[in-house]
Amino acid sequence: MNCQELIRYLSDYIDRSLSDELHAEAQQHLATCHNCHVVLDTTRQTIYLYRQSGRQAIPAEHRAELFARLQQSLAARKDSAS
Ligand SMILES: [Zn+2]
Repeated sequence: MNCQELIRYLSDYIDRSLSDELHAEAQQHLATCHNCHVVLDTTRQTIYLYRQSGRQAIPAEHRAELFARLQQSLAARKDSAS
């Protein structure tokens, strides 16, 4: 699984609605990818806040924002690695 796929599955992962196979793949990716781990934490907190305010799901635009943030941090990491 790569970062793009992880983001796609992230909310299902948090809801534990992935298949066992995908769940294991996501877990494996998260164990090795710091960026996605940060995004997971951020998304979890966001979902928690939404649920506290009585809303059930992350709006699509917020998910897009998280994805954009992840891509930015990946691009930054690529730059600093060279
Ligand atoms: Zn990743």
